[in-house]
Amino acid sequence: MKQISEYFGKSVFGPKAMAEYVSKEAIKAVNESRNTGKPMDRKMADQIAEGMKNWAIERGATHYTHWFQPLRGSTAEKHDAFFEPTGIDTGIEIFNGKALVQQEPDASSFPNGGIRNTFEARGYSAWDPSSPAFIMEKASGKTLCIPTIFVAYTGEALDYKAPLIKSTNFLTNITTDVCQYFDPNVKNAKVSLGIEQEYFLVDEEIYNQRPDLVFAGRTLVGNMPAKGQQLEDHYFGSIPERIYNYMTDFEKEALKLGIPLKTRHNEVAPGQYECAPMFEEADLAIDHNSLLMDVMQSVASRHKLKVLWHEKPFKGVNGSGKHNNWSIITDTGVNLLSPGHSPIDNLQFLTFFINTIKAVHDNADLLRASIATAANDHRLGANEAPPAIMSVFIGSTLSDVLGQFEQSKPSKGKSSKVSEKKISVYRIPEILLDNTDRNRTSPFAFTGNKFEFRAVGSSDHCANAIIVLNTIVGEQLVKFKKEVDALVKKKVNKIQAIEQVLKSYVKSSKKIIFEGNGYSEEWVKEAAKRGLNNIKTTPYALDAYSTKQSKELFVKNNIFTDKELEARTEIKFENYLLKIQIEGRILGELVKNYIVPSAVEYQKKLVDTIEGLSRIGQTKAQNKHLYELAKEISMHINLIWENNNKMIEERKKANNLNHADKKAKAYCDKVKPYFDEIRESADKLEELIDNDAWKLPKYRDLLFLK
Ligand code: ADP
Ligand code: MG
Repeated sequence: MKQISEYFGKSVFGPKAMAEYVSKEAIKAVNESRNTGKPMDRKMADQIAEGMKNWAIERGATHYTHWFQPLRGSTAEKHDAFFEPTGIDTGIEIFNGKALVQQEPDASSFPNGGIRNTFEARGYSAWDPSSPAFIMEKASGKTLCIPTIFVAYTGEALDYKAPLIKSTNFLTNITTDVCQYFDPNVKNAKVSLGIEQEYFLVDEEIYNQRPDLVFAGRTLVGNMPAKGQQLEDHYFGSIPERIYNYMTDFEKEALKLGIPLKTRHNEVAPGQYECAPMFEEADLAIDHNSLLMDVMQSVASRHKLKVLWHEKPFKGVNGSGKHNNWSIITDTGVNLLSPGHSPIDNLQFLTFFINTIKAVHDNADLLRASIATAANDHRLGANEAPPAIMSVFIGSTLSDVLGQFEQSKPSKGKSSKVSEKKISVYRIPEILLDNTDRNRTSPFAFTGNKFEFRAVGSSDHCANAIIVLNTIVGEQLVKFKKEVDALVKKKVNKIQAIEQVLKSYVKSSKKIIFEGNGYSEEWVKEAAKRGLNNIKTTPYALDAYSTKQSKELFVKNNIFTDKELEARTEIKFENYLLKIQIEGRILGELVKNYIVPSAVEYQKKLVDTIEGLSRIGQTKAQNKHLYELAKEISMHINLIWENNNKMIEERKKANNLNHADKKAKAYCDKVKPYFDEIRESADKLEELIDNDAWKLPKYRDLLFLK
């Protein structure tokens, strides 16, 4: 057995490989461009390309690709060979700075929300030196992958990465400015992100027999077996051998790619698992999450398994999330969300802690919108996942701290000992507050030295959530700094000014803090009383992207242009309606081609039996139950048929509407409700019908795989 250190980062063109394959001068250029965002000159790019090529070819790569993350969710690649023929039987391996820095994939088939006409379908992918290139290994070959951003010919971003980078820059710049109040040595800050990924595993063969899983990613029909997760005997249980083998296999591939995986365990639902890497810089962590999902799915096929990323693949057991652990760390090594020994005296911590809470308070609807997808709707608000009501959990210790802070007298100012201590808090080593003080029911929870955005869906691209989170906290810090500076200008002592502004924020954002059970009915009522929104479905949540406040927020801070924001929102509406449309069609197919035929087959058996029994002289009354059963089956078949026809009618009507948002809302309000109606009858039939006649694998086959 090899130790992890032997293969960690082996397939990454990171600092170690670079030191060996490119000049010091070129490395300096990469670092500079990474730190300052300054584009690198072509000569340096040529040098790096040459080194990268040699490194990759020596390791067996034959092709290279720009690797990017278009708005459809997964990753995209188009491979080119290094090899270029120079004659009939001669050729050279070519890869230069131009090929490294920029490519022009035909972008017409990627979602663009109406930004481009197909006749000018050009899109550019451009190298992002902050994310290292890597070699993707498949059974039959290796490809050098170069992480890039993806922009339209007209300059608008067509991917997740470009705005993500802008949002982290925006947040780290203002963070650095705010840190000057406390420590002039801070020159830079980084957003850190650790992404916990939940997922289900099912046997590939069984998966392939369920069209709903194959095409919609979730089961549209199916009954929970007698034993589900009631006993909670799966959570943290011992990992079955087949799964263990799979995990170690994908972990190895991920580690080679430099993804710092650290944790693995069973989750609450049967067949559900989780893995988590060490936190990294947010942009890289998000690249790594996308890459990890690719790796996990591709390694799964070696084990005849399928990974289900869907937020709610099975009715009746827990769904899956992707907890985003987020904080900001300075270049002096201070985690700004680490409370230290004495949080009440740690004004720097309080500054970032309170401003984050205030940002969530002021932008709760936008944060809700950032995690809105058709799939996540099943999870948010279902009673075992963070609710759609945005709130912040901070734990009892920090609740007390905020209470005390709000009531405390102003500090005496610079000359006093107290404030000296406050200014020098950055030297206090971090302590973790009581780790048991956790709340699994909160969508946004403070967990020791970071905020954990738990409401993000398991299949989602984290950039959606993190772009919004970075931007709203950045914007809030800008406002904070303005207010403090204005007071200082009026000769208020700096510390007192900071305290005064923070206290006003504690007061004005109190209603977003909730420490109780987020799954409870009482919270729904209480939240309504507090005036917190509970936006249950995606098409209504997405409206938050189009408000004046949101437009201003994104455009002013150069995260999105007006056009980009509009296009993205349109894509989200479209995505929603397409998902529901597909689910509706699959459900129709399932009931007509699988469920009703199963029911008819069994019904025929029943009727034959009843006839036979009557032939030997039995009365109807004597076979009452068989009669009733045959009748009940007929009733459900009729219900299914009628509801399916009604659903098709509603789909037609929705399709005739002319705006994506109206269509999405029609799909949500008029089409989707039939899913439940149809499912009810279908699931009832599953209960009634002979196991041998049932044509679909059941939940017990899917969930209790060993
Ligand atoms: P749990 O929340 O399940 O108790 P951990 O405390 O181990 O798990 O943390 C979960 C994730 O949070 C891991 O990816 C971890 O690296 C990450 N994390 C820890 N500290 C920070 C931080 N300061 N900033 C961002 N992520 C962090
Ligand atoms: Mg966690």
